[in-house]
Amino acid sequence: MAEEVALAQSAQPGGDTIFGKILRKEIPCNLIYEDNLCIAFDDINPQAPVHFLVIPKKFIPQLSKAEDEDEAILGHLLIVAKKIAQKRNLKNGFRIVINDGPIGAQSVYHIHVHVLSGRQMQWPPG
Ligand code: AMP
Repeated sequence: MAEEVALAQSAQPGGDTIFGKILRKEIPCNLIYEDNLCIAFDDINPQAPVHFLVIPKKFIPQLSKAEDEDEAILGHLLIVAKKIAQKRNLKNGFRIVINDGPIGAQSVYHIHVHVLSGRQMQWPPG
């Protein structure tokens, strides 16, 4: 089993997370974007030459726990992901991933959009 998947299966939903600590600036990250609703930063364990995360400032543990009132925030995360991709000149495309729950291999229970690029992606995903 891949290390990432094992980590995801042992992850505990609920409570504070490493991304909460990043948002409160208690631990560092390579911040690439910030506005009143979200931040984006490079993934610490990149799975592609470009791999960054966009996360809301509001604590939403995972997509399956999002409420209808989160619609604008969730849309905002995608628009920000697209704008950063444009700024980074990812003209040939990119992949967006949102892992949800143990089967989805989610390891950090603060919702986040992965943006991956810089290499050819494969399908189906692992
Ligand atoms: P997921 O498996 O979808 O929950 O993704 C969590 C992601 O967070 C993984 O790709 C990790 O590499 C990444 N990650 C964990 N800790 C940090 C950190 N301190 N800074 C940046 N990325 C992190």
